[in-house]
Amino acid sequence: MLDNKIAIVTGGAVGIGKAIAERFVEDGATVVIADIDEDEGSSVAEDIGCRFVGCDVRDYEQVQALVEGTADEFGGLDVIVNNAGIASVSSVEEMDLEEWKAVVETNLDGVMHGTKAALPHLKESDGCIINLGSIYGLVGGKGAASYSAAKGGVVNFTQQVAIDYADQGVRVNSICPGFVETPMTKELLESERFYSFIEQKTPMDRHGQPEEIAPVAAFLASDGASYITGANIPVDGGWTAF
Ligand code: NAD
Repeated sequence: MLDNKIAIVTGGAVGIGKAIAERFVEDGATVVIADIDEDEGSSVAEDIGCRFVGCDVRDYEQVQALVEGTADEFGGLDVIVNNAGIASVSSVEEMDLEEWKAVVETNLDGVMHGTKAALPHLKESDGCIINLGSIYGLVGGKGAASYSAAKGGVVNFTQQVAIDYADQGVRVNSICPGFVETPMTKELLESERFYSFIEQKTPMDRHGQPEEIAPVAAFLASDGASYITGANIPVDGGWTAF
């Protein structure tokens, strides 16, 4: 499905990003994983047969170097998956200001950085952007003030960039997962109290796996999704339908 496509996946060392990178490689893409975790990132890249670049998505210069280096080395760029993110489970009163800053800089500025750096190349390749939103960007969460604010920003940013670039051949969509088992959610999913909240909110009565998110990204990156832009797609076991 992705033969001859060149793709960057930020935050690809573990979790959802890793599953997306693996799936893209299986589907024939040339993939660059970019992550702040250099040890895990390079070992995963070696395992799945792709390139690793150390990159902090909060820093625009690093993201620009990642994009330019990829395009130079592989002759262009077709897809960027702005996946890197961090969690927060604090209400606005519990949260300190540094936490707000870190979450917004990683989860929202990081998505804007990847988008801004990649657009000149994506306009040339008729490429696409896939952002990782969240159900918490579509509906309210529980004690996640900064996370929900940043993901709400990602959802609206996705629509805005999709509109601005639709006539220039670039498609822009987001995937909005429900709770998925990754290093980010490990502790939450182990808490009985939290898990019963998840079950109560999810018609499918369970959390998801990264391998249930990756095929959606692969489809959005493929030519089969040629008429899809500006969509924020819930992949959530029915959470936002409830
Ligand atoms: P994770 O914590 O398991 O993995 C995130 C990856 O991003 C890690 O490899 C980490 O090193 C990297 N990262 C963090 N900060 C970075 C930075 N500044 N620069 C570069 N890399 C950085 O997370 P996950 O659960 O796989 O989530 C992936 C994305 O999906 C995130 O945007 C997250 O908000 C979103 N999401 C996750 C869930 C879930 O339930 N797991 C639900 C909805 C949305």
